[in-house]
Amino acid sequence: MRINPITAKPNYYHTAAITKAKGEVTAEGRKDLTVLNHLNLTCNQAMINFKGTTDISRMLIKQIPLEDKLASLFQNFKLGDMILIGKNMHECAKEMYKNAGLIKNAIKRGFFIPDENLGGSLGFIKNSIGDTEVINLNDFEIPLITNNKTYPLKAHESFYVVQDDILSINGNLLKIKDEPKTDMSMYRKNFSKAFDFEKEANHNIEKINKKTISQLMQASRKSTTPVTFAQVGGLHKLKNSLKKDIIYPIRYPEAYEGMELNHGFILYGPPGTGKTHIARALANEAGANFISLNGLDMESKWVGESEANWRNLFEEAKENQPTIIFVDEFDAVARKRDNRDVYGDKVVNQILTLMTDIDNENADVYVVAATNNFKALDSAITRSGRFGKHYEVTPPDKEGLREIFKINTRNRKVDENVNIDKMLDKLADAKATGADMRHIVNEAHNNGFVRAGIFEKMENGTLTGQDVSGFKIAQEDFDKALDDFLKDKKDTARKPIGFIRNQAS
Ligand code: ADP
Repeated sequence: MRINPITAKPNYYHTAAITKAKGEVTAEGRKDLTVLNHLNLTCNQAMINFKGTTDISRMLIKQIPLEDKLASLFQNFKLGDMILIGKNMHECAKEMYKNAGLIKNAIKRGFFIPDENLGGSLGFIKNSIGDTEVINLNDFEIPLITNNKTYPLKAHESFYVVQDDILSINGNLLKIKDEPKTDMSMYRKNFSKAFDFEKEANHNIEKINKKTISQLMQASRKSTTPVTFAQVGGLHKLKNSLKKDIIYPIRYPEAYEGMELNHGFILYGPPGTGKTHIARALANEAGANFISLNGLDMESKWVGESEANWRNLFEEAKENQPTIIFVDEFDAVARKRDNRDVYGDKVVNQILTLMTDIDNENADVYVVAATNNFKALDSAITRSGRFGKHYEVTPPDKEGLREIFKINTRNRKVDENVNIDKMLDKLADAKATGADMRHIVNEAHNNGFVRAGIFEKMENGTLTGQDVSGFKIAQEDFDKALDDFLKDKKDTARKPIGFIRNQAS
């Protein structure tokens, strides 16, 4: 099948249209030339709108390749923006309405690019981690060609796109470009319609945020969870450091009188290694209030405009001192954009200012930020003294795993013949985390219930107290759990092309 690309024509649209116009100097043509001159020379956008364009200028606009129109809008594309492309704006919006669940932030600006030739309709949004996502608004699959591989973008699915990806819509190719062939900012109004919903969106965001913050305030008043350091396996060095850095200053303030303390900490390492777990235990051991937040949730809920909410949060933390604020997935908040540091990012600056206040006031507020991707953090955060201490949290060694095994089996019966050492060796080789260990023990327990017919008895109501008291997790139960885990780990090692936002969230 021949595939017709929607790409730049050899005669670039601009000069081609002007030449054509110049060849036909009729009364109408003169009018057209005036419009073109406006387009070309005066750049007076306000005078030309899509509705008012003449045939010739409409023809000119039609000749701009769709990929360049889109790329021109991408130059100013930001969180809260949405671009729709298709034959008819009403139809596109109707389809987008059905897919609204794929957008995790409030829409503040909408753009529509009409296109007769595309053979379908598409939506584009910027997500909270700065990626551009395409949303397939059609009832058919769209091949997305990326790095010579084809990913089938299913109907009503979103996927992130990068420069040079190609979408094939009913045989028409649409290339993703970060920039158009030439600067077309002055023509944007002519080839797209723009809508501004900022005021209304901000009003609603404020309402939602106030509700969220008030829930947070209530949550922070609840007593902290009863996790203690004894329930954290391994991580001995980290526990010792946190005792000296946070627990003792909170417990024995008189010993730290006049001393400058560090109030910002970054824990980094793979998921499941116990960063959240140790932060909970830390708050409990210190007798501090614990506020736990997730950077990714905050970025989507607060739509990147969260300075006021951060201020409220710190205010609440100060009012309830001592407080430990734990921010998981910190990179979603303090992340480099396009791999560059974002000096001047409003949220990052706000957090740093609040941390400076905490330092200056020597408040009993400590911020423990966790990330799986330290390198993604903006260096405004990592290099500043405000988050001065960085601790790597690695998967446990064999002895760490043994401690985590004991923690997870302390309320369960394990058959004395189980070869724990052999299992720990395999898990240490596989770089299993504390979360993996918890999972394996739970699975082994379930396997044991199946083997002993306990689930079956639960189902038919014949379970007795003896069945439960005589139950022990056996070697074969652990073996199966371990095999399944190792197999799963192998299967998930291969990452798919791109990142399927709606499945991941
Ligand atoms: P992270 O925040 O690093 O992604 P979590 O703290 O959420 O990891 O770990 C998930 C669960 O795994 C914890 O709730 C805990 O039950 C278990 N876990 C992880 N690490 C440890 C550990 N070192 N000791 C005991 N349990 C652990």
